[in-house]
Amino acid sequence: MATAAAEARRDATHVDVLIVGAGISGIGSAYHLQDQCPGKSYAILEMKDSFGGTWDTHKYPGVRSDSDLYTFGYRFKPWVGAPIASARAILDYMGEVITENGIDQHIHYGHRITSAAWDSASNLWTIEATRKADGAQVVFTANFLWMCQGYYDHETPYLPNWPGMANYKGLLVHAQLWDPKIDYKGKKVLVIGSGATAATVIPEFAKDAAHVTMLQRSPTYFYCSENKNELADRLREVGIDEPTVHRVVRAQIMHDQDVITKRCIAEPDVVFEELKMLVRAFTGKEDFPFEPHFTPKYRPWQQRLAFCPEGDIFRAAVAGKLTVVTDELDTFTETGVRTRDGTEIEADIIIAATGFNLLMMGGIPFTVDGQPVDWHDTVNYRGMMFTGVPNMVWVMGYFRASWTLRVDMLGDFVCDLLKTMDRKGAHRIEVALRDEDRDMALSDWIENENFNPGYLMRGLKLMPKSGDKPEWRHNQDYWAEREEIPRIDLEGSEFLYDGVRAGSKAPEPA
Ligand SMILES: Cc1cc2nc3c(=O)[nH]c(=O)nc-3n(C[C@H](O)[C@H](O)[C@H](O)COP(=O)(O)OP(=O)(O)OC[C@H]3O[C@@H](n4cnc5c(N)ncnc54)[C@H](O)[C@@H]3O)c2cc1C
Repeated sequence: MATAAAEARRDATHVDVLIVGAGISGIGSAYHLQDQCPGKSYAILEMKDSFGGTWDTHKYPGVRSDSDLYTFGYRFKPWVGAPIASARAILDYMGEVITENGIDQHIHYGHRITSAAWDSASNLWTIEATRKADGAQVVFTANFLWMCQGYYDHETPYLPNWPGMANYKGLLVHAQLWDPKIDYKGKKVLVIGSGATAATVIPEFAKDAAHVTMLQRSPTYFYCSENKNELADRLREVGIDEPTVHRVVRAQIMHDQDVITKRCIAEPDVVFEELKMLVRAFTGKEDFPFEPHFTPKYRPWQQRLAFCPEGDIFRAAVAGKLTVVTDELDTFTETGVRTRDGTEIEADIIIAATGFNLLMMGGIPFTVDGQPVDWHDTVNYRGMMFTGVPNMVWVMGYFRASWTLRVDMLGDFVCDLLKTMDRKGAHRIEVALRDEDRDMALSDWIENENFNPGYLMRGLKLMPKSGDKPEWRHNQDYWAEREEIPRIDLEGSEFLYDGVRAGSKAPEPA
């Protein structure tokens, strides 16, 4: 008699590779798959009605990248605009990648994946999704799952449960849920938070609002710069073609970022002095006061540096359009908020720029042979595969370098892996700890000391574990990984093909 799983698979649409999510990771992965493995059939399932992921979700005023698009753009498609780009420009760029490469015909929009089940008897994933158009449950099967679902909950952002919120009579909205129809002209606006989102919205609000206040628990580092790349401009001026400009400018930016990252660790105080000098230069105020609101407690680069085009947030402060308050929020009041030290801040609109809720694997429940997967019980292979979960790769980008650098790199890795499986005639690939890893100390996915934004620290129990060897860590170091990942030995004994450890002939004991 057929099992329920076999019944479900019978009417399923089958693809060789199923990509989850049509954000910048999913689209880039699709490009690499069809470029490097043209024989593979594939589909992208996307719960939204359009592509773009992050760049479609966020609609707050001024929403833009805080990395340069020479590195946040794909390596295969030159970026021709200003380095820091609006969400609209990023969506246009992605739209071109989709149409130029015929990726559109593979995307199933409005398909929310509700389960992913691996079956070792058939070596197949069964993926169930709810189709938004008619509410139907549809089923796909796939040999390989490429998880590009991002890292946070697109629908429910992180909003602390502050005392007295119900008393507030104005409009409270989380930045992630901002509706562009909200009119803030002439209004008193309070932004709670001081990260990249706050750095983006505040200068925009400051243009038309009556006044903006930023309430932060602790200060952030800001990096002020013009939104242009002199090398790119110069190369274009002398007639260099765009693919070459893209390649050269990417190399220059990655080199500079490597230098600055190392300097942030080696000489954080000197770097901070340089960041201050930029603020002075852009505001024209030699005596710009950094204490207490702009002197962070952590090292530069332990969290992303917030980019500040033309020093805009500081210029808003100098122009008297922005007040900064550094204190804990004590309670909401009818007219705004009160902080611990008793400061009353009045506001018609309050924007919570308080960040994300981490969401592991898009909240999709996974099973392997009927057993639920708890990601925290798995060990993560180089931030992309998991012990005990076959035929799956997860795309998690960089925090300190552009996310997409890793999308391109993992694209090459996955295609090599698929080709190796084909060459060996293998239907199943997984990673497993080796003998020499048995006593390895396991720890949280990332150390607080390395990178510590709130959403990751709050969500560590949802994340896989790390080991203390390079294979079992996502080291977040692009400059190391760009040497290591292309050199991964797919015959290494951490890989099991059809249950047999590479380099050995006997199947692994169950
Ligand atoms: C406002 C903002 C600015 C940022 N700026 C930068 C920057 O400048 N540089 C940088 O490197 N990083 C930046 N980041 C980080 C950023 O999220 C990533 O760089 C990148 O956009 C992530 O792309 P992604 O495709 O991996 O994930 P996402 O953009 O999150 O896309 C994932 C997609 O998967 C879909 N999905 C999820 N779950 C399911 C499911 N169950 N079923 C079907 N579909 C599903 C989602 O709908 C979404 O479309 C920024 C983040 C934010 C929020």
